Amino acid sequence: MRPELLHPLFAEVETLKGVGPQVAKQLAKLGLTRAVDLLFHLPTGSIERVRTPAARPLLLGRQIVIDLTATEVRTSRGRGPTRIYAIDGEGNTVTLAFFNHGGWAARQLPLGERRTVTGKLEAYGDEWQMIHPEVTEPGKAEPALRETVYPMTEGLTSRRLRELVTAALERAPDLPEWIEPSVREREGWRDWRGALAEIHAEPASDHARRRLAYDEIFANQLALALLRQVSRRKRGQPLRGDGRLTGALKLPYALTGAQRRVVEEIRGDMGQEAPMLRLLQGDVGSGKTLVALLAMLEAVEAGAQAAMLAPTEILARQHHATLLRQCDSIGVRVAILTGREKGKARDSTLMGLADGSIDILVGTHAIFQEKVAYRRLGLVVIDEQHRFGVSERLLLTAKGATTPHLLAMTATPIPRTLTLTQYGEMDVSRIDEMPPGRTPVETRVIAEERLGDVVEGLARHVAAGGQAYWVCPLVAESENSDAAAAEERAAALALRFPGRVGLVHGRMKGPEKDAVMADFAGGRLAILVATTVIEVGVDVPNAALMIIEGAERFGLSQLHQLRGRVGRGAAKSTCLLLRGGMLSETGRARLALMRETSDGFRIAEEDLRLRGPGEILGVRQSGEAQFRLATPEQVQELAPMATQDARLLLDRDGGLKGERGEAARLCLYLFERDQAVDLLRSG
Ligand code: ADP
Ligand code: MG
Repeated sequence: MRPELLHPLFAEVETLKGVGPQVAKQLAKLGLTRAVDLLFHLPTGSIERVRTPAARPLLLGRQIVIDLTATEVRTSRGRGPTRIYAIDGEGNTVTLAFFNHGGWAARQLPLGERRTVTGKLEAYGDEWQMIHPEVTEPGKAEPALRETVYPMTEGLTSRRLRELVTAALERAPDLPEWIEPSVREREGWRDWRGALAEIHAEPASDHARRRLAYDEIFANQLALALLRQVSRRKRGQPLRGDGRLTGALKLPYALTGAQRRVVEEIRGDMGQEAPMLRLLQGDVGSGKTLVALLAMLEAVEAGAQAAMLAPTEILARQHHATLLRQCDSIGVRVAILTGREKGKARDSTLMGLADGSIDILVGTHAIFQEKVAYRRLGLVVIDEQHRFGVSERLLLTAKGATTPHLLAMTATPIPRTLTLTQYGEMDVSRIDEMPPGRTPVETRVIAEERLGDVVEGLARHVAAGGQAYWVCPLVAESENSDAAAAEERAAALALRFPGRVGLVHGRMKGPEKDAVMADFAGGRLAILVATTVIEVGVDVPNAALMIIEGAERFGLSQLHQLRGRVGRGAAKSTCLLLRGGMLSETGRARLALMRETSDGFRIAEEDLRLRGPGEILGVRQSGEAQFRLATPEQVQELAPMATQDARLLLDRDGGLKGERGEAARLCLYLFERDQAVDLLRSG
């Protein structure tokens, strides 16, 4: 089957009618850069709107279509929203708030002119308010009262997205079927193209979604199976250390039994010629970093280099600092490489890697760019593996003539049912024991109305010399408004705690973030307000209080990870989960579970069981979710079928069998990143 069939879908979004650089930039914020991304940009649901002449209490919380006349624009001071005051048909004032693109909004709503405005009616104090409403241009058709809605970004309306999705759909070719005929028949699924059209229609078809979810899981299984074959065919280098470095290491504590066991498992693997493919699971705080260090030193003792990949800049810098501290005295040379290392520093690191004078490299994705050449890379450690997909693992496997040993670490306790679909090709080690002397974190669930009390509690904590994290959730569909919410919270807290509040969020520049983190770690800041960027790995033992706002919006495993940031020192730690007003039965049960247990595995299992659709907004955006289309339930249910289906297609020497195999390759192209697929092709 010719992959050219897919070219129109892999064309950049700019090739779609009406998409210029501006719109393309906005689409990129949603991760949509190619036509195919639009096809898989799932509607978040459908919407029902009420046409009303005026704002009414009964309509609070509903989506309304209303005619408004703007009377005043108040541009934001600092980083607050731009507010546009407008009058409805009965003389009530409705405030329209825009956190970004205030200028754009003001042009859409000229003073004194009536415009049709669509959005959710909310109350703000005793005022009516609509946040980021859509404005219908004069002469354009009114918004439909029922339609599918898409995750949006500022400046790009749901309607515009719908038009673009339609344009992308027109490009979708008929593709040959890759699903096993008996499976498709049993499920009663329609063809790929038909299913695509159905998921974007109103009412949306769950049946069609299921088929596409299956496709995605199937592609994933196929990639894993191929990955396994590619890596089995490659040779590795056996690395056996002589203990001169690991023995010289000065540790303030003894390894736990579990750490000792997994280190032995890893050493056993590294001593073999077949490249290690090992997943290390260990709850937050179980001491994975030390295990990684010992493995890396083993590689260095054997004359090889080691690289450690971290998911965020913050974490990369923290690991770098820790490793420097431990390695300096034993003469092991450690360097860091992220997108931020530029110019001379970068050049000298690259040289050091190429001539072998650097033993251990820590960094973000930058460490696997094409320009980075290692003299003898023997071991790759990936920290917080759940952030990396199959594609990244493929890239790693392909680097170098021999394949380095791979140690992937994760604190996400993956339920057994899912291990297969995510890490089918790996062996698993578990650290099932915590370092001694930890006291469990006391967790309480508190209604958000009691924010005042919470702040008082925080004040007492800070007055006693304590430090605290304050986590703000992903509040909306875009990072911009999340950052805005965190900024507002930080500003409010700064009034009460002047000079003691820091803020980090995903839109800040690296150096800015590092400076704040350093101030917090050094105790100069008492409170760190953050979005989920602090989720993984950060280690500040003196921070014994964590407040998580909008806790019901997080995945349980995510809450567990966050909570793992406290309880690291000697002091008794507390985690306050602030919950919003209306919680479903399930929502309550989920938070109650957090109060009851600190067992990451149990939480992960229950999370999967209790996940109500739509109850965990943040999960996908935060990168925790592995799949674009498939929900965790679907993964659970469909993966075994897809695994079998994919295996049927593999032939002995890593190819795909028959016509259906060729079709399956197209499916793989659709879901896996192109580089990865190229590797498979050449693999
Ligand atoms: P994680 O598994 O979440 O990455 P870390 O490696 O960051 O956990 O370890 C958490 C903390 O526990 C660190 O401060 C580390 O120094 C400490 N630690 C690691 N191993 C031990 C041990 N055997 N005994 C006591 N403390 C340990
Ligand atoms: Mg860690």
